[in-house]
Formats: sequence, C-alpha cells, structure tokens
Amino acid sequence: MTWSFRIAQIAGINIRVHVTFFLILALGAIQWGGQGGGLDGALFGVVLMLLLFTCVTLHELGHSIVANRLGVPVREIVLLPLGGVAVMNKQPEKPIHEFLISIAGPLVNVVIALLLAIPVGAQVRMSLLDGRGLLPETVNDPSLNTLLFWLFSANISLVVFNLIPAFPLDGGRILRSLLALAIGYPRATRIAIAIGQTIAIGLGVFGVLSGNLVLALIAVFIFFGAGQEVMSGRAQLSRGIFDTRKIGDAYNKHALTLAMGDKVSAVVDFILTSYQPDFVVLQGAKPIGIVTRDDVIRSLAKLDYDAFVTEVMKREMVSLDADKSLDEARTLLHEQGARVALVMRSGEYLGLVSLEDIQEAMAVLTFVQYRDKRKTAPAG
Ligand code: ZN
Repeated sequence: MTWSFRIAQIAGINIRVHVTFFLILALGAIQWGGQGGGLDGALFGVVLMLLLFTCVTLHELGHSIVANRLGVPVREIVLLPLGGVAVMNKQPEKPIHEFLISIAGPLVNVVIALLLAIPVGAQVRMSLLDGRGLLPETVNDPSLNTLLFWLFSANISLVVFNLIPAFPLDGGRILRSLLALAIGYPRATRIAIAIGQTIAIGLGVFGVLSGNLVLALIAVFIFFGAGQEVMSGRAQLSRGIFDTRKIGDAYNKHALTLAMGDKVSAVVDFILTSYQPDFVVLQGAKPIGIVTRDDVIRSLAKLDYDAFVTEVMKREMVSLDADKSLDEARTLLHEQGARVALVMRSGEYLGLVSLEDIQEAMAVLTFVQYRDKRKTAPAG
C-alpha cells in the first residue's frame, strides 16, 4: 500500500503505518490539549492514541498469527485512521479456519480488557465507596486512572464493534464461516452479505434519526464494505474454474521479444506500435531479463535512446510453470511482489504473463460462468 511506511516487524509480519494515521494523533492532541488541557493534555492525547493503536495492532496480530499458523500467509498489517488491516495473500479455504482467524482479533481485545478490568474495577470501587457515583469525576483529567479507564472502554468498544455481524467486520466473517460449515461458501456468503447490509441500513437510519453522524458514516462504510465482499464472494464462486484453468491458456503467445543487442529505442517503437507493456530479453532462446514500460519511461529520464536494453532490464524474474492454475499463478505473483512472470514448460520459455492478463482471464471466465449458471440454474 502506498503512502505508508514500515515501523516494525513482528513474527515476520511487517507493520506499516499510513500517513493519515498522524491525523488521529493530532486529533488526540487537540481534543485533550484544548479546553485548558495545555501541553500536558496534548501529550496525554497523543499517548492515549498511540496506546489505542497498539491495541488495534495487537488485534490485527491476533488475526495474523492464527492465519499464518493455518497456512494463510499475512504479508503486512497496515494501520489506518479507522483501524488496522491485515493484508492476506489469499482467503482461508476451510470455514473453520476463517472462523478461527476472524475471532482471534476480538479475543485479543477481550484479554486486554480483562487485564485492564483489574485496576479499573478497583478505581470504580474506590469512587463508589467515596460516594462519588459509578464513575470517577476525574475521568476527563489526564491521569493514569483516566488512561486505564479509556483504554478499557476502547477495548470493549473494539470487541462490540468488530463483532457486529456485517462485512467487512470480523463479525461478518464469523457469521459467514459458521453458515459455510452448514451450507457451503457460496450460499453462506450471499446470506451473510444480505444480513450485513440490512444491519448497515438499520444503523444508518438510526444514526441519521438520532443525529449521530459517526454512526451513519460507519453504516456507509459497512454497506460498501459488504459490496466489496460481494466481489470476493464472486471470487469464491469462481474459485473452481480458476483452479482448473491453466496459466498456459492465459499468456500472450504472440509477444514481441528483445535481443541482447537491442537498444531502448527499439522498445519505445514496440510500445508505441503494439500496446504490449512488457518485453522479455532473450539470449538465444534463454530469457535473461524483463523490460517493462515503466522501466523504459524511468530510464529515458537518465539514459538516452541509444542505451542497451540490458542496462534497463530487471534480471530477477519470477518463473511460472505453464501448468500452474490461474489462482496459483496469481498467489505466486502476489507473494513475490511481482507484476509479470515468465511462462515456462519443461525449461523452455513460452511467453510472459502479467497480473493484468490473469485478472482479465478471470473476469472473462467469471462472466462466462455466470452466464452459464443463469442459463442452467433454476431461479432463486
Ligand atoms: Zn479484526
């Protein structure tokens, strides 16, 4: 994800922070620093937000560590102002795995809340004994007690919010996985999406009527998140054909190739006349590098047309066996962080395939499958 940078690596997972995250820190500082809070208040606000996001990170790590254990590699965790996202290369295959991965996040916050309940409980008991009411009056002052109390409430909120049974929240995934155990993924996904969007509409109406704009915004976020899930739900439906269709059916068989002695000017000509974005550089029949359109554009800023393609090509290449399925090929490219790969069959170079080629093939196959389903399946 662009506009984000790495701050740590825990259990082999990169933790990245999105730049907009600093807005939240600033917001914390303003909220606690204003109204006479001063510099101490502002610092308190920043520390509070940092601790809150530590809890969010631990939540995402909960998902990630369980996912890694179950063979679903997590590439990175990105911290955004709205919370965290654990970026997975693929979806868990078994419902029980999805259930365990989804529930692990909220469980982390339950544990944190339980740990915080000890000092917070003592604090509440003290104020009850003093006759000061259920909550200490000082709950808005920057103090350790306030810090603990806010973190306790925040973790409870994180659990409650994430367990709302609506995509893309954890609760939606938990609901889908439990349904999938009984009725399989395609129907479970459809039902879970319908339930989630109904809840989102309910929350939205309630938010608008009660003048709670934050709630209304969250409802919009859930509603459209569910829409995205419809897309990946479609991917679930189509997984079958992507597993059986081979990469050997999706690569460009008529791709233009470059030789070692070719110059950058030849690639520019190719790009202008062929719409082909990537080119392999061959030494005889053996691929020795890949030149992409971006490489060429970047190199023209520094080198001239007379430079050799061997100066701008990438020598590290991902190879895919032509018998790999579209799904495997896509996963491999994602894992390697590559956009384009060599298609090989028993050591012989066949052509290039890019993520866009694979996505295009998948889109076409999905469409064909849908059309066939509509023709053969009974209504409903
Ligand atoms: Zn979660």
